[in-house]
Amino acid sequence: MRAYLSMGTNKGDRNDNLEKTLRYLDSVPEIDIISISSIYETEPWGMIEQQLFLNIVILIDTVLDPESLLHACQQIENRIGRQRLVHWGPREIDIDILLYDNLTIQTENLTIPHPFMEKREFVLAPLREIAPELILPSGRSVIATKGEGKVKKTLFK
Ligand code: ADP
Ligand code: MG
Repeated sequence: MRAYLSMGTNKGDRNDNLEKTLRYLDSVPEIDIISISSIYETEPWGMIEQQLFLNIVILIDTVLDPESLLHACQQIENRIGRQRLVHWGPREIDIDILLYDNLTIQTENLTIPHPFMEKREFVLAPLREIAPELILPSGRSVIATKGEGKVKKTLFK
């Protein structure tokens, strides 16, 4: 099954957090990383004053079902040291499942497609880069859809 994951970090060594997350994900036997976007530096979302985020989007191939994939992502979040202190506050790493195949899921733990994915430029910019042909859940093409928020592509890949 194909899934798109979004990752963001704005606490500690941000490049190192991304690199570790990718390394840990890649070491899960049931997960293959297919493509990785450039790194985008983006302004934080929500009320709280905090550091700029680094964001990427990746495409994976996985045999895990959505709940198990979420669990694997949360284990990696915990391993990298994320503490849930403030909702939408600073975090070492946040891993969100944007799309899983073409499934729609609405449970207590999981909403797929991710409800804000078409609103946020920090998701859309890296997604456009790795999946320019993608049609979003709304039926619009990712190329023609612009989200909110300032996003700057960095020199790092
Ligand atoms: P957020 O990502 O909203 O900033 P968290 O990462 O703390 O905040 O996630 C809160 C909860 O969101 C998680 O415990 C998870 O069960 C739930 N969740 C719902 N849909 C998704 C999704 N598509 N991807 C990741 N987490 C999700
Ligand atoms: Mg999250």
